[in-house]
Amino acid sequence: MYPPPLPARLSDALALVFTAKNTVRCWDKGCGVRIRFRATTGTGTRRLTELATDHDRH
Ligand SMILES: [Zn+2]
Repeated sequence: MYPPPLPARLSDALALVFTAKNTVRCWDKGCGVRIRFRATTGTGTRRLTELATDHDRH
């Protein structure tokens, strides 16, 4: 009857991609530390990534 809501699904997929891209997870599976960021500079992203993967700091 109605066509599938393609635009909505597309935006959902895009949101998923961006969320995954902007989330840094700790490498330790039992840790569960996640750092989310958005609209940060390359340097800020790098610092956050290092912080999220440096397990001695959290
Ligand atoms: Zn950790």
